[in-house]
Amino acid sequence: MKKPVYLDNQATTPLDPRVLDVMMSYFTEKFGNPHSATHQYGWEGEAALDISRGQVANVIDAKAEEIIFTSGATEANNMAIKGAMQVWAKKRPEIITLNTEHKCVLESAKACEHFGAKLTVLPVEKNGLLDLIKLEKAISDQTALVSIMAVNNEIGVIQPLKEIGEVIKKAGALFHTDAAQAFGKIPLDVTEMQIDLLSISGHKIYGPKGVGALFKRKHHSVTLCRFMDGGAQEGGERSGTQAPALVAGLGKAAEIASNEMLEEDARMRAMMTRFNAAIRNSIDNIIVNGDEGARIPGNLNIGFLGVDNEMLLASLRGLALSSGSACASGTTGPSHVLEAITPQESLENMASIRVGIGRFTTDEELDYAADAIIQAVNKLRV
Ligand SMILES: *Cc1c(COP(=O)(O)O)cnc(C)c1O
Repeated sequence: MKKPVYLDNQATTPLDPRVLDVMMSYFTEKFGNPHSATHQYGWEGEAALDISRGQVANVIDAKAEEIIFTSGATEANNMAIKGAMQVWAKKRPEIITLNTEHKCVLESAKACEHFGAKLTVLPVEKNGLLDLIKLEKAISDQTALVSIMAVNNEIGVIQPLKEIGEVIKKAGALFHTDAAQAFGKIPLDVTEMQIDLLSISGHKIYGPKGVGALFKRKHHSVTLCRFMDGGAQEGGERSGTQAPALVAGLGKAAEIASNEMLEEDARMRAMMTRFNAAIRNSIDNIIVNGDEGARIPGNLNIGFLGVDNEMLLASLRGLALSSGSACASGTTGPSHVLEAITPQESLENMASIRVGIGRFTTDEELDYAADAIIQAVNKLRV
């Protein structure tokens, strides 16, 4: 049987063959421990980490020594949020985040309550964006950390990071952003946006799974409590032997994404515009979930009024896509992100799907998907 068309590029992306090329030798001949300082085997591994650190830093205008490799964005988010709040909770107990954040941010922020932090979860507007006035009202000189994602994984909206950074800095708090869906896809500049902590993931940018990074600004106020004690790797921030193959892959993936960002954005934007038009020409009563302007082109989350969610997914077996977040799969009910932006009565009467295209999606695949969706929705509506 033919496999379904892959339209779940927010859940994960396939490895770019150019990334695999760079990774291979670290699984075989260059097997040394990157922290062995006394021989060539170690130096080869160490060189992989050095190169990658530069490649990752380059994308966000950071310094190489400000990059800490982790097992992924989940670990980076946990490190940044719990790590900062454990240091700061006594002096400035408040932490602010958004109701549409990834679960690993929401749960990390909630966990900070165990050591005395006071959590504020701000609601987004109907378009999925943060209203800056709400942040200005919530923030104070008691706020230690604000964690607001760059691009939402379910609805693709881009938060106004530069403006958010200005509000946060005026209050003297730290700015963390989960950039797993934004890194390499939109321009990010940690200086201009006044970001102190930024999390990324390898497998969202056509790199390997099991690796990510945290940018941590080199500044005395940006101090994190350590969770991994041991050999003091990663400047003492995260002990444990790094995986040169994975880290090299992350670096290469970051470099490619950055070099090809403009081209890829334009190509995916054209594809998505065509797809969107095809769907809208043949189906009415459609809602685009999330702002139609401030969004990345690879993610279109659409709701069909008067269609049952389960039935729609069941009739789209030829497409691999998600109706919510893969990370929340197994749980029933609508996603917390759609709940945050949709009135309850619409939510109950609407099927939503996330169409996530990527670097390797073809026009033919997307045409096939449009046809399948049009047929399924029109059939379910009669
Ligand atoms: C995928 C994702 C994560 C989790 O990243 P992992 O590397 O899989 O741990 C966190 N936040 C967002 C926005 C994501 O899309």
